[in-house]
Amino acid sequence: MFTVSIDTIFVLVLFAALALFSTFWVISKVAEWRTHYTPESPHIFRCPICLHIFIAESGPSIVRCPRCQSLSEAKGARIH
Ligand SMILES: [Zn+2]
Repeated sequence: MFTVSIDTIFVLVLFAALALFSTFWVISKVAEWRTHYTPESPHIFRCPICLHIFIAESGPSIVRCPRCQSLSEAKGARIH
């Protein structure tokens, strides 16, 4: 049977504690990211032609209704 010195036990306990703390750190960071993360500002639009409500990115100034394919100005169609 092999013998384990007190130094080896100390190092093992130290690494186990380090692994435990880093695991908890990663979990807390992921939880923080999930609560604060918002996707790149999608907005809700209402088509002025068919009144269909849809979600689109706020980037383009003209949005296309996915139902009737009509184009409308994003500024006027945006409701949120
Ligand atoms: Zn429409």
